[in-house]
Amino acid sequence: MGDAQALRFGVACARLCDALLAVVLAPACAACNEPLDHPTRGPVCPTCWRSILPLTPPLCDGCGDPLPTWRTISMPLALCARCRRTRRHVDRSRAIGAYEGALRSIVHALKYDGRRSLAGPLAALMRDRARDLLEGVDAAVAVPLHPSRRRERGFNQAADLARGLRVPVCRALRRIRATSAQSSLPAGRRHGNVRGAFRLTRTARRLIGKTVVLVDDVCTTGATLEACARTLKEGGVAQVRALTAARVVTRQH
Ligand SMILES: [Zn+2]
Ligand SMILES: [Zn+2]
Repeated sequence: MGDAQALRFGVACARLCDALLAVVLAPACAACNEPLDHPTRGPVCPTCWRSILPLTPPLCDGCGDPLPTWRTISMPLALCARCRRTRRHVDRSRAIGAYEGALRSIVHALKYDGRRSLAGPLAALMRDRARDLLEGVDAAVAVPLHPSRRRERGFNQAADLARGLRVPVCRALRRIRATSAQSSLPAGRRHGNVRGAFRLTRTARRLIGKTVVLVDDVCTTGATLEACARTLKEGGVAQVRALTAARVVTRQH
């Protein structure tokens, strides 16, 4: 079979598979629940992927939240009021978009329904929307799960995302305490919940003086990322940037 012929054969097979899957299983989009026209292209429909909008600039250089105005833009670093007030261990943050709509459903499908094939396209969107943040980064470090939760879930969604960023991945952190799920706690208790929950691994030594991107699926209050960044900096990491698939946006005035 020639290349062109093989390609045509492959396309025909994919079409046939799509048609058969659509009829026999009628798989639905993991985000909007509409039947998928092309199930072989992944569990989320193109309309849902297209609906994921970036956060509206100007964004805070510290936490990545949208800034209320362009007022601060002439400063070397555009920081929101909260970031100007408190010094943080995370130097810069970015997310694909807000934790709502299709993006929220996609993160849920990845994390709780084990749709791991979603990590690739999500990581591609993270790369695309955080080009400047990833510039000059030496390594990616995924926020670790506690071993018991990792066993329960079978995988760490943050590690899957980190692997898709095309940056060398370093397992520099481990979680030594099985903390309550951050989502189950009020915002005020989240920093305490994750304090001291992380330790450096032996491989973390490679990161001394380096710039690291910390990777997670969702940033809610930033408490987990802060705890990880603090641990990394205590280990000699020069700069910690955070990149998440989604972020819960706090509207500041
Ligand atoms: Zn959809
Ligand atoms: Zn900020």
